[in-house]
Amino acid sequence: MRESPYPMVSVEEALAIISHQVAPLPAGSGLLQEALGLVLAEDVRAPADQPPFPASIVDGFALRAADGDLPRRLIGEQMAGYVANLAVGPGAAVRITTGAPLPAGADAVVMVERADEAEGWVTPHPGQDLRTGLGIRAVGADVQAGQRVLAAGQALGPAELGMLASLGMARAPVHRRPVVGVFSTGDELVEPGQPLGPGQIYDSNRPALLAAAAAAGGQPLDLGIIADQPGLLEQALSAALARAEILVTSGGVSMGELDLLKPLLARWGTVHFGRVQMKPGKPLTFATLLAHEASDLPPRPVFALPGNPVSSLVTFQLFVRPAIRRMLGFTQTGLPRVQATLGHEFRLDPERPEFHRVTLSREHGRTVARSTGSQASSRLLSATGASGLLVLEQGEGLLPAGAERPVLMLNDVWLSE
Ligand code: AMP
Ligand code: MG
Repeated sequence: MRESPYPMVSVEEALAIISHQVAPLPAGSGLLQEALGLVLAEDVRAPADQPPFPASIVDGFALRAADGDLPRRLIGEQMAGYVANLAVGPGAAVRITTGAPLPAGADAVVMVERADEAEGWVTPHPGQDLRTGLGIRAVGADVQAGQRVLAAGQALGPAELGMLASLGMARAPVHRRPVVGVFSTGDELVEPGQPLGPGQIYDSNRPALLAAAAAAGGQPLDLGIIADQPGLLEQALSAALARAEILVTSGGVSMGELDLLKPLLARWGTVHFGRVQMKPGKPLTFATLLAHEASDLPPRPVFALPGNPVSSLVTFQLFVRPAIRRMLGFTQTGLPRVQATLGHEFRLDPERPEFHRVTLSREHGRTVARSTGSQASSRLLSATGASGLLVLEQGEGLLPAGAERPVLMLNDVWLSE
């Protein structure tokens, strides 16, 4: 039996090596429309107060609190979006809408529901706490000029993007999205939509990995199917390194005659590991390669994933996704983890820790994990519909139902009963 020349590293060692080799991409100025999910590279401070003028928070009547319950004469109206030239003196009121600037002289706004209006006069209902400031948002009530509203390292979701827009910013200082090149290797592979010849199969890894790259926040770059021929692989690799900031390949890293990728990576760069002690995904290989000779760009991370469809997806989620997230500027790069109760027995693997695809459900106050069935690394059905990866330690025998183990979450799951 042939022996791999690569020492077996643990999952933890592999992750440490990747995080050491991969750095956040430099920050640039990104358009808000393209910044969803990106990470701020700098703190953001408010250039001005919010609101910049005292504003009404209700539809009603702007008036002077000191006049109490007495009727006021309506002298005009102030809607949002301009400043009407009105001054509210004693015994006067102005009709006002939500968000409109408070007219000079007024110091309170009574809701339209709490006043009677007739023939040009308005009378506040008695018994309400009519005081200075009622119904008004003061200057700087929401945000004060100079206040730090967002911090470097924070990811931009809908609320954060809205915040930036409210400050008048059309662009934000963010880490760029890395271009994630993906190619498949294998003489047997055919593009979906084309007829299959004898001995051929469809390339399912590339669509799955391109989708995983996009879901992780990368900018996917489809580099096609490459046949198992040294010359073609070299060409593909060199073209890929010119365009992709992180490269993901599948296939050609096991111990077969046509597994040509590892030696090629070793000749062109540094292979940091070529085997990981895990199931599935043992042949996972990680290298760094210069974009081209004498390049002053940092070396490109290259992940050569095993060809089996489940192995390639699981190793992507466990190792490539953190690399992409690190390039994006995240400090939390791993999959979210929950503790789950086993819904049935699980057999441990005596040689390797296993990442077992499971569904999760909420039962009697517990989060229960159940296997998606046969975990053959060719069986994509073990991954479809899976909520997460149950982390099983290497060991002998069976884990009983009811035991607790961590699950790495792959999807948003609704965990209520
Ligand atoms: P390899 O890692 O190249 O030895 O491939 C391992 C297994 O995965 C073989 O059965 C391949 O046919 C299969 N395989 C490799 N690449 C792909 C792909 N892109 N899509 C579907 N199956 C693949
Ligand atoms: Mg192959």
